[in-house]
Amino acid sequence: NEIYEEMDPLLIRIDEQQRQLKQQNAELAEAENMRRDFSSNVSHEMKTPLQVISGYAELMKNDMVQPADRQKFAALIYDEAQAMRSLINDVLTLSKLDETAFESEGAAPVDLHDVAQRVAGRLASFADGQGVEVRIEGASARIAGSETLAEEMLYNLIENGIRYNHEGGSVVMRVRADAAAGQATVTVSDTGPGIPEELHDKVFERFFRVDKSRSKETGGTGLGLAIVKHAVLQHRGTIEVKSALGEGTTFVLRFPLAD
Ligand code: ADP
Repeated sequence: NEIYEEMDPLLIRIDEQQRQLKQQNAELAEAENMRRDFSSNVSHEMKTPLQVISGYAELMKNDMVQPADRQKFAALIYDEAQAMRSLINDVLTLSKLDETAFESEGAAPVDLHDVAQRVAGRLASFADGQGVEVRIEGASARIAGSETLAEEMLYNLIENGIRYNHEGGSVVMRVRADAAAGQATVTVSDTGPGIPEELHDKVFERFFRVDKSRSKETGGTGLGLAIVKHAVLQHRGTIEVKSALGEGTTFVLRFPLAD
């Protein structure tokens, strides 16, 4: 009997270890599945522009394009090449984010208001072309983070606000620091079509698109929000979506303020 009493906790421990091993295996298999899905998605997304590029280039090479149409064909080839370039850049950014956890130790704090203004400048001509007004409001808010990642994050959000909008619409990014709560908040509001409630989590998945044609037409890769979410988490932040269909979308980001 005494032996059984001593064995009992041991058996329970073995059981527990087996359960943990099983769970680790399941998690590894899941990660492997996701990696495989991602690779096949990337190949698929690359094939379409490549087919267009080779098709048109072949016609031009064989002198089958009227001189008057040459410029149009060259422009089509150029646009598809740009789409491939964006896709490759986004895939590289994601794989860097997967590999390296960002180190905030010793890094200078990043002012999100400065970053927002810089990003608005970089996107000014895209916004003009779409007839959308971009405004940066609020004040300085400093977080511990990577300048490059913060810029990537805010760039993707403003770019989407412009992309999923209408002529005469607006995108407003507001940055504020709440010293008492130790929190920096960034909100990005647009006047676009909105995102249905049941898709609020889905939009952060790689290659998920609510509006496929609009995404492709304006140079979207389907990876922007996956990059944003990843970068937010690396900054110990949170992101949520609020949206009223037909009225617009607001993304709310919160980060711990730098001390
Ligand atoms: P994409 O490169 O296609 O814009 P994202 O990952 O940035 O990819 O966004 C995923 C999808 O979520 C988009 O294809 C679009 O359908 C939807 N979406 C993203 N941002 C907005 C927004 N501000 N308003 C409406 N829909 C949006």
